[in-house]
Amino acid sequence: MTTTTSSHTTATLPALHELQQAYADLQAKGLKLDLTRGKPSAEQLDLAEPLLALPGIGVHADDTGTDARNYGGLDGGLAVRRIFAELLDVPVEQLLAGGNASLTLMHDVVTFAELFGFPESPKPWAREEKVRWICPVPGYDRHFTVCEALGIEMIPVPMTPDGPDADAVAELVASDPTIKGMWVVPTYSNPDGAVISDAVARALVSMPTAAPDFRILWDNAYAVHHLTDDEVTSPDAIALAAEAGHPDRVLLFASTSKITFAGAGVAFLGGSPANIAWYKKHLSVASIGPDKLNHLRHAMFFGSADGVREHMRKHREILAPKFEAVVQILTERLGGYDVASWNEPKGGYFVSLDVAPGTASRVVQLAKEAGIALTPAGATYPYGKDPENKNVRLAPSMPPLDEVRTAMDGVATCVLLAAAEAAHV
Ligand code: PLP
Repeated sequence: MTTTTSSHTTATLPALHELQQAYADLQAKGLKLDLTRGKPSAEQLDLAEPLLALPGIGVHADDTGTDARNYGGLDGGLAVRRIFAELLDVPVEQLLAGGNASLTLMHDVVTFAELFGFPESPKPWAREEKVRWICPVPGYDRHFTVCEALGIEMIPVPMTPDGPDADAVAELVASDPTIKGMWVVPTYSNPDGAVISDAVARALVSMPTAAPDFRILWDNAYAVHHLTDDEVTSPDAIALAAEAGHPDRVLLFASTSKITFAGAGVAFLGGSPANIAWYKKHLSVASIGPDKLNHLRHAMFFGSADGVREHMRKHREILAPKFEAVVQILTERLGGYDVASWNEPKGGYFVSLDVAPGTASRVVQLAKEAGIALTPAGATYPYGKDPENKNVRLAPSMPPLDEVRTAMDGVATCVLLAAAEAAHV
């Protein structure tokens, strides 16, 4: 569970003219800072620099003797799959390694479902009159883009500190056969850092659904991305689903985008034997095999699952101070007023900041006009529409620590000014 902090006292905000002056001073600094996307910093990318020399001239056989330079091997390199099978709690034969983007695998799965349906689908989803999808909010904007691009209507359901509101989801899916699936980010969710509880995971994998082909796209993007000693793991959804009598309900995704190189990592797809066979059948039309040299170089670089865990501790050393700075500045600058709440994530890449209702877009605009780029307000909601206009996603991984501090101090000024302006209307 993530900790949420909000203002405890209700001290009166500073006078509007004082905040306007503080904002003018901020603008006068001529900043050019960016807290928009959750990218690894150059310093983090440097941790994986030895990958560039691997596998090395003359090294191209993985531990099955397969020549990684050649066509074939649709499942991906065995050595890297073994390492991530352990980390992701998936039997290795039920885990595929693909290209560099797990988002592509998610898009593939929904596209294949639209074109062909799953084995138990009454018809391909594209031939249904309507397909709807549950989107826990706030959530990951690119998940929503996949749904929107493929014509799937999104139904927002609130996140709780233990994951999606399972009662709300169960009620919706019980009677509506047009609801074909949902997104779940089980570990350190984007943006609010929640880790799904065992109870919520069990509820989601066992609930009755009106759609016979309901799927949970279980995007474990931050499975090993801890920021504290409390290295939490999320429940083993594929096994729990099988136990609950719905073995095909869960498809799991992950990647090394924020472990090695965001642009040249390895993505993984896990699922029941039937789901894996279904995916491979459609993938085999599109590809003769993935980049197994990249798989081999990753396996050599890590050596083992423990190698990945150790590597992630180096990321933590770089990232944790930035997240601490965000929380510290929010607490110092906003903690005394009743205008904002935020989470203190134990992992992942984001801090979710709720500002005074109705002011998120103004905060983002004020920040922009002071040279601080923030993720657009509403991005964490389907169709970019935050009904309360209050959520702002902060992504502190990319800028150096001193810039994170400067940017956050500026953001706090914008939050206060926007709240004071709203109070004067
Ligand atoms: N899933 C979540 C929840 C993310 O936050 C991100 C990136 O921000 C991704 C997936 C992207 O993963 P990949 O780089 O493997 O496509």
